[in-house]
Amino acid sequence: MKNLTAKKLRDQIASGQIKSLDAVRNIFERIEKYEPVIGAYISTFKEKALERASQVDKKISAGEPVGQLAGVPVAVKDNMCTTFGATTCASKILQNFHAPYNATVVEKLLAADAVIIGKTNMDEFAMGSSTENSGLKQTVNPWDTSRVPGGSSGGATASVAAGMCFAALGSDTGGSIRQPASFCGVVGLKPTYGRVSRYGLVAYGSSLDQIGPVTQTVEDAALMLNVIAGHDSSDSTSVSEAIAPVCDYLTKLNEPVDKLKIAVVPQFNAGADQQVQNALNEAIKVYKNLGAEIIEIEMPHLDYAIAAYYVIATAEASSNLARYDGVHYGHRTKDPQNYIEVYTKSRAEAFGQEVKRRIMLGTYALSSGYYDAYYLKALKVRNLIRGDFTNAFEKCDCVMMPVAPTTAFKIGEKVNDPLQMYLSDIYTIAANLAGIPGISIPCGFDDNELPVGLQILSPAFTEDKLLRIAGMYEKHTNWYEKKPPIAGYK
Ligand code: GLN
Repeated sequence: MKNLTAKKLRDQIASGQIKSLDAVRNIFERIEKYEPVIGAYISTFKEKALERASQVDKKISAGEPVGQLAGVPVAVKDNMCTTFGATTCASKILQNFHAPYNATVVEKLLAADAVIIGKTNMDEFAMGSSTENSGLKQTVNPWDTSRVPGGSSGGATASVAAGMCFAALGSDTGGSIRQPASFCGVVGLKPTYGRVSRYGLVAYGSSLDQIGPVTQTVEDAALMLNVIAGHDSSDSTSVSEAIAPVCDYLTKLNEPVDKLKIAVVPQFNAGADQQVQNALNEAIKVYKNLGAEIIEIEMPHLDYAIAAYYVIATAEASSNLARYDGVHYGHRTKDPQNYIEVYTKSRAEAFGQEVKRRIMLGTYALSSGYYDAYYLKALKVRNLIRGDFTNAFEKCDCVMMPVAPTTAFKIGEKVNDPLQMYLSDIYTIAANLAGIPGISIPCGFDDNELPVGLQILSPAFTEDKLLRIAGMYEKHTNWYEKKPPIAGYK
């Protein structure tokens, strides 16, 4: 069963060849075996999952119609609200928070008959690139347990890579789906801003956050996107289908891509490690052999993406995180002397170091006298970056670049040097600033046998084409079939 994709498992469950109950039992056997090493989950729901699986099995034996994820064990990042279990954001401040409603994506997974088996670890409030900022536990990379899984959706990507779920949902504010996907050798898709509802996603940077799938294959990413995409009246930033219609991404996947034109940005890519660049160049050769035309372009403002992002994201975060005040939600300090202490001590005790750093940075950038110099300027740079993409897409169908400058780094290597950590987002952040979709797919290994990812970026609301372009590569290579030996794949 461990060699099945989500799509294949779903088809076999729907046709009665495999019982969902067996799939869920099997997944929990694997979780019991590998989770003590990997540490991907903050919570799991074994009994609830088994019960749900048998309900799906009953539907199938009764000949009732079932959803697109019928009986498939999936996981969600712990910043998406669920009425079952806690929703912690890997923060001590929300450690015992039980959401009164399900996020829209969770409702959609349930409506598609998926079996949600657990909630995955992450950097606290999704702030980080290695999952080391989790306030609750450490997740390691299944390919090399001395290394980070990437972040902030590191629990989700490690879980898919180690076969401890068939697919997962992550969130991506500046790369948090794509970068850990590349570090763990799985597929990660960040949809266009507004394609997937953020209702029930705990906000980090509201103008940047987007939920997306983490999967073994491009086909599975299309399947998951089918389930979660679409307008939601509870999220005013989710885009109306009259403006940007949702399609059947799975059916579209088999349509050929004619006259594919790919752009690369040689100057920008030169900043990546040589082995990452080599893998990228090899991947582009594959496309060339398949008939694609490759052009070289300049995107002059990409160098400023990190600086702009860390002003905008921290500004938004400082405002979004004001709600954790010891009164409304979560942790409250014991025996405060006055109401000021309720706020200050509750926050001081339960937020981690990185979260505090960002609240201070963001508050500073928004304060009067500095607003124009930092926040407003960053917004202007954001516009220029958007313009770089608009210009690029007039000449090509997609832009290809590395996902991250390196492969997975060692645990502890960057955690005490926040600027170094921020630099690992150099290739992913621009897509969030521009609001466009991006995907990371496995495209090889470095000398340490660590996976390398290929990033493909396309115009807003062209996920169907983006998936087809990614699928083309996957069909002609077999990187996605390679699995980490630790998880019993050898
Ligand atoms: N690493 C980036 C940050 O720390 C992106 C995180 C994310 O996408 N959630 O903000």
